[in-house]
Amino acid sequence: MNATRVVIVGGGFAAVQFAKNLRRKLPASACEILLFNRENHLVFHPLLADVAGASINADAAAAPLRQMLPGVECRTERVQRIDLRSSEIEFDEGTGELSRLHYDHVVIACGAETNLGIIPGMTDHAFGFKVMRDALDLRQHIVHQMEHAEAASNSDQRRWHLSFIIVGAGFSGVELAGEVNELVRSSSRFYRNFRKEDVVVTVVHSQAQVLPEVASSLREFARKKMEKAGITIMLNTRAVAATHEGVELDSGQMLKGGTIACTIGTAPSPTIQALDVPKEHGRIRTTADMRIEGQTNAWAIGDCAYIVNAFDNKPSPTTAQFAERQGRQAALNLVRVLKDQPTQPFRFKALGQLCSIGGYQAVAEMFGMRVSGFLAWILWRGVYLFKLPTWSRRIKVALDWFWDLLFPRDLSFLNTDATQYLNRAYFRPGDFVHRQGEVARVFSVIEDGEVEILQATEESPEAKIVAVLGKGDFFGEGALLGSRPHETSVRARTPVRLRQVGSALFSETAANFPPFRELLSNAVVRRSGDLWRRLSLGKSILDREPLASLLEPLPVEILHKNSTLVDAISMLRKTPSGELLILDEKQHLWGTLDRNDLFQIVARVAVTPTHEREAMIQRKLSEFVPGNSLSVELNDSAAVASATMLVRGIAWLPVVQSKDVPRPVGTIRGERIANRVVQTIAHTEANHARAAS
Ligand SMILES: Cc1cc2nc3c(=O)[nH]c(=O)nc-3n(C[C@H](O)[C@H](O)[C@H](O)COP(=O)(O)OP(=O)(O)OC[C@H]3O[C@@H](n4cnc5c(N)ncnc54)[C@H](O)[C@@H]3O)c2cc1C
Repeated sequence: MNATRVVIVGGGFAAVQFAKNLRRKLPASACEILLFNRENHLVFHPLLADVAGASINADAAAAPLRQMLPGVECRTERVQRIDLRSSEIEFDEGTGELSRLHYDHVVIACGAETNLGIIPGMTDHAFGFKVMRDALDLRQHIVHQMEHAEAASNSDQRRWHLSFIIVGAGFSGVELAGEVNELVRSSSRFYRNFRKEDVVVTVVHSQAQVLPEVASSLREFARKKMEKAGITIMLNTRAVAATHEGVELDSGQMLKGGTIACTIGTAPSPTIQALDVPKEHGRIRTTADMRIEGQTNAWAIGDCAYIVNAFDNKPSPTTAQFAERQGRQAALNLVRVLKDQPTQPFRFKALGQLCSIGGYQAVAEMFGMRVSGFLAWILWRGVYLFKLPTWSRRIKVALDWFWDLLFPRDLSFLNTDATQYLNRAYFRPGDFVHRQGEVARVFSVIEDGEVEILQATEESPEAKIVAVLGKGDFFGEGALLGSRPHETSVRARTPVRLRQVGSALFSETAANFPPFRELLSNAVVRRSGDLWRRLSLGKSILDREPLASLLEPLPVEILHKNSTLVDAISMLRKTPSGELLILDEKQHLWGTLDRNDLFQIVARVAVTPTHEREAMIQRKLSEFVPGNSLSVELNDSAAVASATMLVRGIAWLPVVQSKDVPRPVGTIRGERIANRVVQTIAHTEANHARAAS
């Protein structure tokens, strides 16, 4: 008889316990076990904070799966799809082609993924805290911040570098805050320019108490200990945005800091999202024995599963302790199924809880006893040491820990050149991206939103808006190419998301990619050719000219985001200017469309197969036109509108009431602005001539 094939998707706490127990119960001749995990190791999440805090090396928190699981075939591959109907999984073998594998039973133990996208700007400015890479990157960054603080010449800058913000006070937030606090404060003695009192570690937590996962008796205790160690805990406080400066709170306060670590926000893994099975808050619903509801040969365990604990009839919490127990009991249930015996519901009485709070301190509640401080910390470390796979590894890690007790933490870091990066940045309305006179460090492309360009001159020292840039525009190239400070400031007009390229990467790309170089030189020529900056007379005329005096009325025909391509074609036919505005549900400006845009869309439609064309022209306009069209506000000057058009190389722009109420009030055309300047100059000269005669 063929051996039963069991495929496990995931290699975390639940999966490892499942594989271990199944192997123990069934010999290889009766059961083939394959475990697919994205990494070749199990991540000991409770020790990640120690990696970030430099108190242990990364290998102490990562246990190689194949050493832990003799007799189990461990594959370091990502499962792309699970087909419950055909009992197959699909995975990439590294060749780029997807392979399929049949199973008799599948066990889904994918855990959960980080989702920083729940708060604007977090993806761009905060560290996640879930995988080993997060912990290592954060550790590098913290040490880097200390080096910056040492070099900072002004106290505000130093304080910013020494301010660390942790969002969330669950297990991971509390453990991380404790470790960061300990690392920075205990290392301050090696620096001359700051003391440990200068270090600010703040935990922002939306609930009334820290550690919602642990017993209430331990929460208060942990909070007091952390505050005593110098950590500020802000309870009942929500982070609403993250920027380069720090975190904006729901009270409107801006908490400044150069390091943000976000420990909240999880989402189901894409493999789970794609599964068409009953779910609860994204987790897979199971029956009491942990099989997926409606399935006979598919099981779900760990953080990705919604399993009711028969002990108290409550959903199991997402903790390592529960994941391990579920893994163990699901394996026993599978053995029972294979032997045609009745399965048992998941039932587990939590043994207690352990949480490290930094500074060689922990809180623990085990077998009804409450322990805290160093003793609890030893207990906590002992438990994790015991879980490591081999004796050689246990001894190595124990020596590392012992070493850390005797000697200071390692402050070396690999110096990655900050000018080489490519990243994202988020700015709130009013935030400066850079200021005039600052050294140019990045080239920025606007992914979303609008920025205004401001310039102060000797004649008018107060900075004035000179142009507006929108989605798809870029800036910073002039200063980088000319190796000079920025000649203008850039400020966010709406919430803005940028893609930024460090100076070295930018220069290398500009030097080696001719199309990019050409795009940049065209932009530089267009921008330096800003007519009004050269013709100061023209500029002073336009600075004084209110936009309202040059406004053209709104086109009679207005399109809606939901209008179809056919509607657009027929409206453009009836519009002599060939320019149309597109509004959203609130009648706010959403986009623009002119004959040129339409021509390009029609060209796209023309290359689709004939039978698809009819359906395509009935599709919504929003599928063809990028929203977020650039506009100017009614109280901008004509000079701003003119420069915006010149920078973009466009002939007209919509004008909206204001950035807060982007209701269109008319349009402005470059030609009309130019006429006004010429007329005013001619009029002024005629007046001079009359006066002279
Ligand atoms: C920083 C941190 C600290 C924590 N501290 C504690 C603590 O002190 N005590 C406690 O009890 N709990 C703690 N937890 C929670 C605990 O770690 C989780 O509850 C536990 O890891 C869940 O185990 P799991 O097996 O379900 O998932 P995980 O351990 O997350 O493992 C899931 C695995 O599946 C893999 N995977 C996902 N999708 C695929 C795919 N398609 N193909 C292949 N592989 C895939 C992932 O790469 C991952 O290795 C902490 C969590 C974090 C993040």
